[in-house]
Amino acid sequence: MALSVPQHILDALTDVAMPRLQSEPEAAHTLHVAGYDVPVYPTGALVIGSGAAGLRAAVEMKRRGVQVSLISQSAWGGTSACSGSDKQTLHTANTKDQGDDFQDMARAIRSGGAMDEDTAYIEAVGSIRAMASLQYLGLPLPQDDLGGTLRYQTDHDEVGRATSCGPRTSRLMVKVLAEEAIRLDVPFYNHTTAVRVLIDEGRVAGLLAIRPKSGTKANPYGLALFPCNALVFAAGGPGELYRDSVFPNGCFGTLGLALEAGLDLTNITESQFGIGTRREGFPWNLSGTYVQVIPHIYSVGPDGTEHHFLAEYFRNTQEMASNIFRKGYQWPFHASRMLDFQSSLVDLAIFRESQKGRRVFMDFNRNPSPIPGDQPFSLERLDEDVRDYLLNAGASHALPIDRLRHMNPLAIELYKRYKVDITAEPLEFAVNNQHMNGGIAVDTWGRTNVPGIYAVGEASGTHGATRPGGSALNAGQVFGTRVAEHVAASGQAKHVSQSDITTGAERAIEAIEGVLNAQSALTPRDIRDAVQARMSDHAGILCNASDVKAALEDARALNAAIREGGIAPSRSSEVARVLQWQQMALASEAVLTALNQYIAAGGGSRGARAICDPEGESLPQSVNGPLPDVRFRAEREKDMQSQLIVRLVGTDLTVSERPNRRIDEASKSFFERDWPAWLTGGIYDLNAGQADPG
Ligand SMILES: Cc1cc2nc3c(=O)[nH]c(=O)nc-3n(C[C@H](O)[C@H](O)[C@H](O)COP(=O)(O)OP(=O)(O)OC[C@H]3O[C@@H](n4cnc5c(N)ncnc54)[C@H](O)[C@@H]3O)c2cc1C
Repeated sequence: MALSVPQHILDALTDVAMPRLQSEPEAAHTLHVAGYDVPVYPTGALVIGSGAAGLRAAVEMKRRGVQVSLISQSAWGGTSACSGSDKQTLHTANTKDQGDDFQDMARAIRSGGAMDEDTAYIEAVGSIRAMASLQYLGLPLPQDDLGGTLRYQTDHDEVGRATSCGPRTSRLMVKVLAEEAIRLDVPFYNHTTAVRVLIDEGRVAGLLAIRPKSGTKANPYGLALFPCNALVFAAGGPGELYRDSVFPNGCFGTLGLALEAGLDLTNITESQFGIGTRREGFPWNLSGTYVQVIPHIYSVGPDGTEHHFLAEYFRNTQEMASNIFRKGYQWPFHASRMLDFQSSLVDLAIFRESQKGRRVFMDFNRNPSPIPGDQPFSLERLDEDVRDYLLNAGASHALPIDRLRHMNPLAIELYKRYKVDITAEPLEFAVNNQHMNGGIAVDTWGRTNVPGIYAVGEASGTHGATRPGGSALNAGQVFGTRVAEHVAASGQAKHVSQSDITTGAERAIEAIEGVLNAQSALTPRDIRDAVQARMSDHAGILCNASDVKAALEDARALNAAIREGGIAPSRSSEVARVLQWQQMALASEAVLTALNQYIAAGGGSRGARAICDPEGESLPQSVNGPLPDVRFRAEREKDMQSQLIVRLVGTDLTVSERPNRRIDEASKSFFERDWPAWLTGGIYDLNAGQADPG
């Protein structure tokens, strides 16, 4: 199946130009508060973030008559616009062969545990609408000649529910949704960073943001106020939490901001890690064809010596090569796949090489070197599933680069655009943090525990311990729509806010002034280095009780030091970054607090993390024998049934546990019985006050 696609078509799939934003509406007035002259932009609903999730929420609200505005740190920044794997995926049940079963799909989505059953069902049922509406907006999802969507199998997906427009699917989603937002005249404030939520009598009243362009002599930090009746967190995941990360640069997320606003976080122990090129170069996942063509993987020590390190793990060349291939669709690290010489032994080996200070490379001009004493690599000597796949794909070329050129020429093009020619030079990579599965706790309408505040996309904690490939983008689209439906049905944001936010603004400005201290010994760079190293070294794919406990103590000490002495910005334009690093330090303490409690309570390995323990039941093996330093606790059924909730009380982070919400799979809707709830808005549960996401 050679791809004979003209270059200009390939170019259009990789170079996606974004639309031009309209000019921003002027401030309604200026408020003199806490000694500053601050511009005020009242709105009905405010969305924080212009990724695929935030834009979806904004567009759907506007279509329903909500007075919505959007702010973004960077209009085309964030994960949706700037990152991708070799295939970004969306979930689809639209096919010409056998359709899908939403109960089955929901079970697959929540199969990793710690996920609410209603949320999984909502994402399954909502996927059709999410996908069809994106197609309506112009997303070029591939179809066959009869209109069925082309689908393929991704991780945690037995059926083949994924589809893709190529490496830039999520950027294309941002593009079509942004074009719609522009068409609908959604006020869009770019380069505007949310820094404090204003709460009045227990409900949202507005937001304090920093906009360098609002900076004046009387407002040197560029403060801006957005009074609002509904606030949607859609600021993505905390990519800057880890040093080893495949998130694009500058992804801070809003976990710290959410904690300070009194929002509950859930499942923040759960992340996704896997192999990719780091954000210092071009952040990209090395899944799919990059590994399915089976390149040679090796490391280089500080003295320049090359190491064939996979030979220290696998028993023969066939086993090693077949497991490199399987990283294509078993991309995320999973503890249990370190056992029995499976594909996560590859991740473990790479991770340990990096820990030794060696750099790890993939060379597409070399087939894997043989395991000493075994036969050389051959396309004839591969596990049956692997051999069949390559045979069916017609990828019988002698070298990995030719197999890649044949199966996925875009994969080569993409790196070329970032000045890396993988046809000529090996590609450096590592095991990186890629996704936060947890986040702000929400109910079935995306409501948080604070009235008027919602969360969608990676900012929210709707995934459980694992997530099937593609479910992140789908979840953002489905919940973006549901939040809009709820805000519209409640009528709370039909008009712009009339609230007097002076007192809340005063408190918020005082709070940020408490952080900014030109005399402080701490700089944002110190905090970045400390937080990222701590998280990557002690809360990555391998964790153990004593390391996590010590890391937590260090994280607490850092936050105490920040509270005590603040952080010194090196220039006034750095103020937003200072506050984001202060909030990231808090988020890091929150993750470590939950992780520490989980491990101390006997929690087992799940999702992305192996909980290493000398008493653990699971012992990975290498060709040279057992690997006792990575002996780990097995997953416990009990842990799959609940979620850990983290809340900030004063300066303490508290952790509690709640069971997953359940649904009765046998219950069926009945038209005459259920129609009134739809007609009267009963489905929105508006009289319940604020929802309890638990
Ligand atoms: C390499 C890689 C590959 C991936 N592949 C897939 C895949 O194949 N399928 C899949 O489903 N998912 C995938 N994911 C995950 C998925 O891309 C993200 O979860 C998703 O794009 C997040 O969308 P979002 O809208 O929630 O956040 P983002 O797209 O990150 O958008 C966040 C927005 O918030 C803004 N922002 C941030 N902080 C602030 C602030 N304080 N104030 C104002 N604005 C702020 C940012 O500028 C940005 O506009 C991948 C992720 C990575 C890193």
